[in-house]
Amino acid sequence: MVRFIEENTKPVKNETGDEPKTDVTTAKKKVLQDLIINNGGGLINSWVDSMRTCSPTHLKSLMKRSSWLTEHPSALDMFEEILHVSEGKQIVMFLDYDGTLSPIVDDPDRAFMSKKMRRTVRKLANCFPTAIVSGRCREKVYNFVKLTELYYAGSHGMDIKGPEQGSKYKDDKTLICQPATEFLPMIDEVYQKLVEKTNLTPGANIENNKFCVSVHFRRVDEKNWSDLANQVRSVMKDYPKLRLTQGRKVLEIRPIIKWDKGKALEFLLESLGYANSTDVFPLYIGDDRTDEDAFKILRERRQGLGILVSKFPKETNASYSLEEPDEVMDFLQRLVEWKQSRAGA
Ligand SMILES: [Mg+2]
Repeated sequence: MVRFIEENTKPVKNETGDEPKTDVTTAKKKVLQDLIINNGGGLINSWVDSMRTCSPTHLKSLMKRSSWLTEHPSALDMFEEILHVSEGKQIVMFLDYDGTLSPIVDDPDRAFMSKKMRRTVRKLANCFPTAIVSGRCREKVYNFVKLTELYYAGSHGMDIKGPEQGSKYKDDKTLICQPATEFLPMIDEVYQKLVEKTNLTPGANIENNKFCVSVHFRRVDEKNWSDLANQVRSVMKDYPKLRLTQGRKVLEIRPIIKWDKGKALEFLLESLGYANSTDVFPLYIGDDRTDEDAFKILRERRQGLGILVSKFPKETNASYSLEEPDEVMDFLQRLVEWKQSRAGA
């Protein structure tokens, strides 16, 4: 069902406290009038608009990086403080993949992580329980990371599997959680329809992530984004049990069940035996809108903290920030060195 609503826009105030004199709000409303989608109860609005306004040039006009950094300081600068608040608690690491461990690239099949990053993540997993939480299907993200000692939560957490040989942190048989299995035939069907529907849109890339489907806009000319959105919408209208969510130049189609990266984080903490523990300190690092579900859970639990990977100001529930995957690697390396120094002390 397509419907038109007024956007609930709240302009961001600038450093002087004035609302910015910009036509962004007007432009947003115009795009919204074209594109608001209500898909089976899950309200999906303004995602094309949001992709545009999340672009660095737009956001730079709305938020100064310096003031944003005051609220979301660099996790490298605040490293000692982070260690201080985690004192006496078990750190558990949660890492998004694309844009966090690997650079964002035009071709999603070539989002390789560096050997150095892989070595760092391996050392990290030796120090702390470590999970990769990705929108990609689990097998695909495993093929990028290639580390058997990690937990993997693919398809936005809808496909979770523990380390092949069992976990050194938890003495149980290999962990598996797939809360959306019944949706597999439907996801396959939607994938096929989307491939057919979008095949005339240059650059459109439909990725089957097993429990969800990604429609990549990265290689589509911005002037065709609305057309592609409408193609997706026309397929989705027949699937009220599926919903759309938005990532970085990507639309994600997934089952309407209440399961996301935040739920995956909670499930993994529980599986590791930290369901009601106050002695655990989950650290979640991610760059995407879908990672916000996990940042939000950490805030609600008042436990651990979220680190957003972004060079530019963004609205986020994360507490700290890192600019890019290279900084993520530095941060992880420092954690490893700190842990090793304590072990050797
Ligand atoms: Mg990402």
